Amino acid sequence: MDSSSDAHGRHRCAACFRQFNKMEHLVEHMRSARHSPHEPRCGVCGKHCRSFEALRDHLGAGGSTLPKAASCAAAFAARGCGICLRASVPPHHAASCKLHRAQPVSATRITIGGGSGGGGGARALALGCKMVGAGSDGSLDVVARVCVVDEHENIVFETFVKPLIPVTNYRYETTGIRPEHLRNGGGVGVMTVKAAAERVQNLLLNGEQPWRARSTASRARLLVGHGLEHDLEALGFDYPAHLKRDTAAYPPLMKTSKLSNSLRFLTLTYLGYGIQTGHQHPYEDCVAAMRLYQRMKGQDHPRRGGGADEPAASADQAFPAWRQRELERMTPEELLRLSTPDYRCWCLDD
Ligand SMILES: [Zn+2]
Ligand SMILES: [Zn+2]
Ligand SMILES: [Zn+2]
Ligand SMILES: [Zn+2]
Repeated sequence: MDSSSDAHGRHRCAACFRQFNKMEHLVEHMRSARHSPHEPRCGVCGKHCRSFEALRDHLGAGGSTLPKAASCAAAFAARGCGICLRASVPPHHAASCKLHRAQPVSATRITIGGGSGGGGGARALALGCKMVGAGSDGSLDVVARVCVVDEHENIVFETFVKPLIPVTNYRYETTGIRPEHLRNGGGVGVMTVKAAAERVQNLLLNGEQPWRARSTASRARLLVGHGLEHDLEALGFDYPAHLKRDTAAYPPLMKTSKLSNSLRFLTLTYLGYGIQTGHQHPYEDCVAAMRLYQRMKGQDHPRRGGGADEPAASADQAFPAWRQRELERMTPEELLRLSTPDYRCWCLDD
């Protein structure tokens, strides 16, 4: 069936189903929309959504809003999974999809990986920091606790951090950090921020020279986290963008408004459990970010096998090699096949 235009000669986007009176307007739309097979899609009607939040609205999942598509919502309510948003799942799926809260391991059971040799064969490491307050009103964030976790949720590095400037608010209610932790390490050790940053960097670089990490062929590890810019700024080093996997900045996990969701919201919504209650251990944030990364990475997306979608992300404009007139002669399906996303999908990670 030809879905390219309806009885009134309107042109329908093959991804988001928007309709346009003129083909040139559909081409215009395709240039800016950057649709691709990597977008979250409704398992009932096949519509592409910008983000999982938009897909949840479409399906009325978790009662987020009135469903935008009543028939999809009805089918989804009968057989779908409210966490991973698959439209049709087997009866016992929910038990494995809904994850349980990871208990912070007590300090005595932690095996701390040493220097550059730590982290074992991990391809990705998750970083989490907890901040205390400095400055006259205690609002200046100062890193006080650092944790690094591997893909198997083992702690490979953990330390308290000696503050360089006086702490004016330990934020004890949420951090559980007391002055003595930053003096004697409370059983897990304490070091300067410089030394802690060096250990984290060594774990990430995995024996690679910092300048070599910029190359895509390096052994350097992927850095997973939530709001990585903030953590890295507090630690005082940066890391190549192509190796960062930030759950606060990944388009499918962001709000329709393109603002970040909180890690707490993402964990509750897409992993099915609550975090950040009581005294918060950075381990729990590391595990949540790593699990979200793995869930996104495990998404089942059609791959074009070295085709148009692989390097994608960097190009400013869709269809750079095509003329407007050539594009206007294509069907909406052909346009969608040529369209590339403006972000690199995590499902492309090995
Ligand atoms: Zn569209
Ligand atoms: Zn993908
Ligand atoms: Zn649908
Ligand atoms: Zn599920």
